[in-house]
Amino acid sequence: MTQRALWSDLLPRFVLMGLLGISCARFATADDGLQRLVRAYPQQFSATDKPNVLRWKDGTETVYDDGIVKANLDEMLKQATPRDQMSLPYPCGWPMREPAQGEEPGRARCEALFRKMYGDSAAAVEQSLVDVPWPAAGASTKLRFTRVNDAAHALKEVGEEVNALPDEVKRYVAKPIGTFYWRVVAGEEWLSPHSYGIAVDFQLPAPLYRYWRWDAKGSSEVPRYPEKVLADQRLGQIVTIFERHGFIWGGKWRHYDTMHFEYRPELMPPTSK
Ligand SMILES: [Zn+2]
Repeated sequence: MTQRALWSDLLPRFVLMGLLGISCARFATADDGLQRLVRAYPQQFSATDKPNVLRWKDGTETVYDDGIVKANLDEMLKQATPRDQMSLPYPCGWPMREPAQGEEPGRARCEALFRKMYGDSAAAVEQSLVDVPWPAAGASTKLRFTRVNDAAHALKEVGEEVNALPDEVKRYVAKPIGTFYWRVVAGEEWLSPHSYGIAVDFQLPAPLYRYWRWDAKGSSEVPRYPEKVLADQRLGQIVTIFERHGFIWGGKWRHYDTMHFEYRPELMPPTSK
């Protein structure tokens, strides 16, 4: 066989392998996201051999990826599927860098999934809320949080670890300003994660307490990311503790919301809790 003949024989196979490689990589990524959801919420999901299906403990099924590619981030946030929810990796750790355009890890939430896990109405969610001690704000301070998916337990552990930090660090989260509140996100169409009892806001010290809408002053343009936030080591200590217990922080979004912590264990790396 001449070299020319060899190449003409093998080339279509290389092309085919290349195509398979690409499609396998996409499948592996999608499948990994599905498995991470199943692992992160063992109270909710059962393992299944069916690809592309989340199987609930009650026997019902939810399609993981409907195959519809959203035109832009806004479309994705409005109609997020479970796959969309897993598609933006959350960067754990500190120091952090300024979030780039489109970097909104955790803002995509499949609303049907959250409603089924935590409750489909304010009254339904409230049935699972419990009082969690938050000693950094005083011995009698309690935060209302859902016990579904062990979220309240995770928050209690965060509270204990934060309370062991030096006073100049724990004062950062000494003013909790809200947990459960059934509402649509300001200026958007989807339910706030506060509706499910999985989020808590804190009034951080003045230069760090920032929300993009306050800085935008009515414009829809996202302002420049507040640099002081990136440089604050004490804030980093707080964020790192929350992340270790399965919480994401709104300061890692391009549409920053530095007061906001949210229980999202499916977005944590497999090695962490
Ligand atoms: Zn919030």
